[in-house]
Amino acid sequence: MSDPKDLKQEAERLDAADPLAAHRAKFALDEETVYLDGNSLGALPAHVPARMAEVVGREWGELRIRSWDESGWWTAPERIGDRIAPLVGAAPGQIVVGDSTSVNVFKAVVAAARLAGGAGEGRDEILVDGTTFPTDGYIAESAARMTGHRIVALDPADIPGAANERTALALVNHVDYRTGRLHDLPGTTAALHAAGALAVWDLCHSAGALPVGLDAHGVDLAVGCTYKYLNGGPGSPAYLYVAERHQARFDSPLPGWTSHADPFGMTPGYRAADGAVRGRVGTPDILSMLALEAALDVWDGVAVEEVRAKSLALTDFFLECVRAYVPEGRVVPVTPEPHGERGSQVALSCPDAPVVMPELIKRGVVGDLRRPDLLRFGFTPLYVGFADAERAARVLAEVLAGLPAD
Ligand SMILES: *Cc1c(COP(=O)(O)O)cnc(C)c1O
Repeated sequence: MSDPKDLKQEAERLDAADPLAAHRAKFALDEETVYLDGNSLGALPAHVPARMAEVVGREWGELRIRSWDESGWWTAPERIGDRIAPLVGAAPGQIVVGDSTSVNVFKAVVAAARLAGGAGEGRDEILVDGTTFPTDGYIAESAARMTGHRIVALDPADIPGAANERTALALVNHVDYRTGRLHDLPGTTAALHAAGALAVWDLCHSAGALPVGLDAHGVDLAVGCTYKYLNGGPGSPAYLYVAERHQARFDSPLPGWTSHADPFGMTPGYRAADGAVRGRVGTPDILSMLALEAALDVWDGVAVEEVRAKSLALTDFFLECVRAYVPEGRVVPVTPEPHGERGSQVALSCPDAPVVMPELIKRGVVGDLRRPDLLRFGFTPLYVGFADAERAARVLAEVLAGLPAD
């Protein structure tokens, strides 16, 4: 067992050498709390409240309807999409922001099924990640019933081998929300394409935490939320990526008026706009959207590769501290050890998790519980440091020491 003092010193050394350390000051955080739940709700960038006061006071309060043009409200979904694009490796013009992730999963699955030619043409199966965040599975199942497809739920690692001439598409999570396992986006996408199928990725737990490379790996469609690692705020709108090569044939199952080629023509017949804009539905939720837009300023000048390097160093260090402080067997990491298989969180299985997490939170270490037995700790490199990781592991050991070992 390492000496606790050594790990404290090591944390200080790592924080002093951390090229991203200065970014923490951009967030509204208090020194009493170690915030390890940014994979559920990202922290507030400190400049956002002032920007929102201006949006509400000036743009809504004074300019009122003029703001749709004069304050750029109307074009916010595609403008903010272009701000997210570099974070997920997409060229401009392929991402549109709006609606929830759940709604975008629906748009993406139905649109991909239509792009694949429809169930009547032999491709009648939709492969889904069987370990998925439930909403993706629920919605894919409903989408499949509507389009006449059959759902095949699989471990994501088995999807490349299962894709065949009956596969229309696969809906896969880049990072598993429970275990933090990073799935093989390049390999899975290539295997789906080799089988003639489309790849739809859910980036909720990867965007803002690690490089995604949507364009480089030829992903077809993708969705993701913005309130986790992108710090957009509670319920901030999600996004939809439609690769440029699919845009002309992208046939939205929710062709709302704001995706029309001439929305203010108010014509009875639908004619889709060009580009990713056809992923829009109705009137954008401007307040949430503009809070997200302001929140994205924290990424100016930040390279995702640098974020990834720190994320891996943080999770490595946290695991090292847990091994040093927590008696053998009290917790078992379910997050993979190899860097190539790890997202930006550490999940520890612990039979006492339901009593441990509230105790941690009481002592200022905020992670979350995923029933029945997972303690989840998210590491957001822009505002979490190595001393935070050390303290979290130390407090975890203290809490466990106060409970009877079973
Ligand atoms: C967080 C998350 C969602 C959230 O969906 P909402 O529609 O925003 O509630 C969906 N899918 C995955 C994989 C997630 O991690």
